[in-house]
Amino acid sequence: MKFSICELKGIGTQKEKLFNRLGIETISDLLQYFPRAYEDRSHIYPIGQIKLPAEQPVLICGTVSMIQELRPRRGMSILKVTVADDSGAVDLIWFNQPFKKRFFKKGREWTVFGRMEWAYGHRQMNSPETEPGRVTAGGFMPVYGLTDGLYQSDVRKAVRHALDLASRQPEVLPGWAGARQYGYSTMPSQDAYEAMHFPENMKKQQQARRQLAFEELFDMQLGLLLRRRYEGIRRGIKCGPNGNLLKRLLGKLPFTLTRGQTAAFLDIQNDMESEVPMQRLIQGDVGSGKTVVAAMALAKIVENGYQGALMAPTEILATQHYEAFTQLFQGLPVQIALLTGHVTAKERQLLLEKLKDGSIQILIGTHALIQKDVVFADLGLVVTDEQHRFGVRQRAALQSKGQAPHSLFLTATPIPRTLALSVYGDLDVSSIHELPPGRKIVKTYAVGEPMRQRIYSFMEKLMAKGQQCYVVCPLVEESETIDLQAATDLYEQLQQGIFKNRRCGLIHGRMNGKDKASVMESFQQGDIQLLVATSVIEVGVNVPNATLMLIDGAERFGLAQLHQLRGRVGRGSQQAYCILLAKGGSEETRQRLKWMETIHDGFVLAEKDLLLRGSGHLFGYAQHGLPDLKAADIINDVSLVIAARHEAAEYLKGSFDKIVVLTALQHRFGRTFEGLLSN
Ligand code: ADP
Ligand code: MG
Repeated sequence: MKFSICELKGIGTQKEKLFNRLGIETISDLLQYFPRAYEDRSHIYPIGQIKLPAEQPVLICGTVSMIQELRPRRGMSILKVTVADDSGAVDLIWFNQPFKKRFFKKGREWTVFGRMEWAYGHRQMNSPETEPGRVTAGGFMPVYGLTDGLYQSDVRKAVRHALDLASRQPEVLPGWAGARQYGYSTMPSQDAYEAMHFPENMKKQQQARRQLAFEELFDMQLGLLLRRRYEGIRRGIKCGPNGNLLKRLLGKLPFTLTRGQTAAFLDIQNDMESEVPMQRLIQGDVGSGKTVVAAMALAKIVENGYQGALMAPTEILATQHYEAFTQLFQGLPVQIALLTGHVTAKERQLLLEKLKDGSIQILIGTHALIQKDVVFADLGLVVTDEQHRFGVRQRAALQSKGQAPHSLFLTATPIPRTLALSVYGDLDVSSIHELPPGRKIVKTYAVGEPMRQRIYSFMEKLMAKGQQCYVVCPLVEESETIDLQAATDLYEQLQQGIFKNRRCGLIHGRMNGKDKASVMESFQQGDIQLLVATSVIEVGVNVPNATLMLIDGAERFGLAQLHQLRGRVGRGSQQAYCILLAKGGSEETRQRLKWMETIHDGFVLAEKDLLLRGSGHLFGYAQHGLPDLKAADIINDVSLVIAARHEAAEYLKGSFDKIVVLTALQHRFGRTFEGLLSN
């Protein structure tokens, strides 16, 4: 049963929409919308002892020593009220609110709440909240993330009402909270939610958070274990030992496999030779050579008499895979086909027939693979490339085209080792940590605008030597208001200006798949020497002759994205360059770009990214198909994750009512476990 937030006092359709924008639809969502910070009103600080600049607003109390009204120019008034205590003084400033002047009298005591800063050698607070007299400190106030039009007071009020309602009607509480007591439970759920939103003190808040985090992680681990157990009872395809086809494929490879590739395939081989369907994730940095590992797994399923499918997120990528596979399997008795949205109806018809009668053994394609009429004779292995780009459902849809097929997921979005357990609790993980030998590190430089012309000259030099370049600029369509140069403008400017003797190309998100593919093809062929692209530039594209990537507006990209983009160059034997052109930017941005200059390992960068941004922004995390966590912090709560996993496993050993558990999980996680429920 869902209780809409509209049932709360003061929330009409207008406000509801604003709350919806924050992902809050039900009262339970609201209760789980935990504050991002707390205002400390629990004690009054001595004015002179507050460290500046202060991050958080604080409560002070002082006596008014001076009142000044300044009129620096017509139409502008500044009210400056100085209050002091034994430790120091602070100027309270209000702009254009001259009427406030009459509230203050010299010698009177005021309690003030605001953020303190330095200005012109004085302590200062801008537009603080004030109350006459010495007000007793009032605990902690929640600070919520907001959206345009919604105020702190709106959310505070709504949460207050929700908590009051919950004390009368516990069923509005999230999940099946309260149904169980855990080792970490120190208070009833109702109190835990109260303490998360309006804590008396931070100790209580921390207790509550830990309790709710454990509860959440327990449910998550329970779900993962159940899903795993369910996979375990399905009988999969037991492959024989490596055979002829695989041997011939290996014999044809133009390189020796890296240790990581060999180890990953050994894991795959073990999985495929067992009866339990494989559920394995291969994580390896861009360029680590995951494709060939996938090809080997597909060869193995084919030599066992089954079909295999490889699904990629974009048409360009699918086409590239198709071409790579055609090369790899050249001269071997394997039928490979490509299915995308741009195959003509007639070709499609023929292809589907050959798929159904089993004469196509490896099908490569985009989402087009999961359409209803795509029917396999006997699908034994499903490979999903760049798996984070697909939803749980899409992956499941492809898997359901076979009888318990083996599944292999590839990702270049590295998840630090400590997290793999919690994020991929139901997948086995193999990591490829090294790049193929001979790869040179992509020399990376963070530079400012004044360097632009010099970079262009450098690019010209590379192109004169027959090499190719990318210029990436952030997409404007998502943030039209932000003053960044559109890809189109930049393209025209470059093509008609400094690079008028070079063949430039443009690729962006609004082009259709066919046009994109044809531009990509020209770039691959070398017809286009300089490719201007928006950030949609395809993950995984492989053009070894491209040796320089200029990222314009690098301050607008996250570490993970920068690293992924950089992975497009340095795929050949020549020295490659990545230039991060940034305008200004915060301390954080500078740190990020600095790391890019010195760190080339995606796993290490991922860990840095976490440090910098916190787990809430763990890139790709939300897209991994797992519920996003509200109270738990997957980075800092690793020990809780392990404890929760342990308790969940214990719980599953005991007798339990599967339907009750699954219903509860479904309640908490939405549809994630639908598949389980229907089985
Ligand atoms: P990714 O892991 O990013 O998908 P790819 O599979 O596209 O990487 O591989 C990148 C490039 O490295 C390809 O051109 C591939 O042929 C090459 N490659 C893969 N494995 C090796 C290896 N062991 N030695 C040398 N080159 C390799
Ligand atoms: Mg790839």
